[in-house]
Amino acid sequence: MINPPAVGIDLGTTYSAVAQLDSSGRPVTLVNAEGDLVTPSVVLFEPNNIVVGKEALKAIATDAKLVAQCAKRELGDRMFNKELGGRKYPPEAIEALILHKLKRDAARQIGEFSKCVITVPAYFDEVRRKATQDAGYMAGLEVMDIINEPTAAAIAHGFLKGFLNEQGESPAPRKLLVYDLGGGTFDVTVMEIRGHEFLALATDGDVQLGGYDWDQRLVNHVAQEFKRQHGLDPREDANTAGRLWRECEDAKRTLSARAKASVTCDYKGHAVRVEIPRELFEELTHDLLDRTRFTTRQTLMAAGLTWKDIDYVLLVGGSTRMPMVSKMLRDATGKEPDGSVAVDEAVAHGAALHAGVLLAKNAGQSPRLKIKNVNSHSLGVVATDNLTGRKRNAVLVPRNTSLPVTARRNFRTQKPGQRSILVQIVEGESANPDECTQIGRCAVRDLPANLPGQTPIEVRFHYAENGRLTVHVAVEGTTKELRHTITRDNMLTQEQLDAWRGFVCGSR
Ligand code: AMP
Repeated sequence: MINPPAVGIDLGTTYSAVAQLDSSGRPVTLVNAEGDLVTPSVVLFEPNNIVVGKEALKAIATDAKLVAQCAKRELGDRMFNKELGGRKYPPEAIEALILHKLKRDAARQIGEFSKCVITVPAYFDEVRRKATQDAGYMAGLEVMDIINEPTAAAIAHGFLKGFLNEQGESPAPRKLLVYDLGGGTFDVTVMEIRGHEFLALATDGDVQLGGYDWDQRLVNHVAQEFKRQHGLDPREDANTAGRLWRECEDAKRTLSARAKASVTCDYKGHAVRVEIPRELFEELTHDLLDRTRFTTRQTLMAAGLTWKDIDYVLLVGGSTRMPMVSKMLRDATGKEPDGSVAVDEAVAHGAALHAGVLLAKNAGQSPRLKIKNVNSHSLGVVATDNLTGRKRNAVLVPRNTSLPVTARRNFRTQKPGQRSILVQIVEGESANPDECTQIGRCAVRDLPANLPGQTPIEVRFHYAENGRLTVHVAVEGTTKELRHTITRDNMLTQEQLDAWRGFVCGSR
């Protein structure tokens, strides 16, 4: 084992996993306290107790109102969509409780640690990236870096294929398409592996599309059948809906191995048993699969490539076990998708390898691999159109630009003696700022006194490799950097983060 251990955490929407590098530098998945390789990202809020994982998942059938699931989908929102035990929680606090359990279970095997790398969907915007780092902080972790899930999977793949071994040959450049369909998010990334370099060429995805949506189609189908037979909707009761969802998720898994499955549903003394052949399941969900097909094609085009240029199509995420996924990719690409990396573990393994690189770098050793990412959303500022007077998104860094990148923009003071300016920062492709993600407002205060009107103020926006943004401000012609603060609408203050950290780390 390396000291401190190189730990990578795949904080998934539905399941999470932790890996570390062993003494020979190989990533291994750590089992949790229940003896499982993956932990359901589910939290049960009992009156005096918080339970994370398998038991919380089971409680969906009996105490649905006390259970939080898919909190990752809500990162960036102020509060999680429902009250839990009479209290509202920010989604990052729920994520922190999951991370805390992962940390505690891992520490039982490898000793106390705090340094780690956490993975995020490549398509996460800046706000969600920050929320993930904040969740790590609240869980008592020191998040050395966040890394994109498909990049992590590609690194694990590179390791498996021997590209990263000390004695490993550096093969000819390979182009990889990583198709990552997890429980709650979909990501597709085109990467090039050149020896030890991992370069993302283009990325796209959907943070509201994953296995959970496939489950919901089955839930709706069975509920419709129940309604048809008994005139009642079993989804109206939270516990029945929870039980039904678990049955349907199970049936979905069965359908990956068998040609048919069945789901039973009991409610108010009535019951139905619905047979689901695989063809029916595929019919009920074909539009979801089509969305991934469309996004995959768009990403390939954004990378300026055709299928002929792609050497591997790498499958990542538990939902790629559905036969319809491989079939669709086989038809679209003419290639056999590569499932050689363990779909549930590859992301955590890649994160552990990245953690190993960072720790080595801190210890003054030269890095074994190099990662280059692109930004998944365009970065812009809100500007007023001179002609129409309407607000618009003035894009500074178009999406799929290689990171790190710095963009500069000059703003001008409007009137003589002005002491502050306000810059509104957004991420998104729409020309209308209201349709973009609001990253925050950057207030520049204490401009030098007596500046003439129309003085240029240079604002520099810097995206780091991990997609996090920093802003620098300067008055042209002076060397003094100006004080500024970014106000983020939905973000917790440092005091709130510390208070939640106390709460989360104090939970058992
Ligand atoms: P991940 O976030 O990558 O762990 O993926 C979790 C998702 O994969 C969940 O929606 C699971 O229901 C789904 N999943 C896991 N195993 C299977 C399987 N054998 N067939 C279909 N879906 C699966």
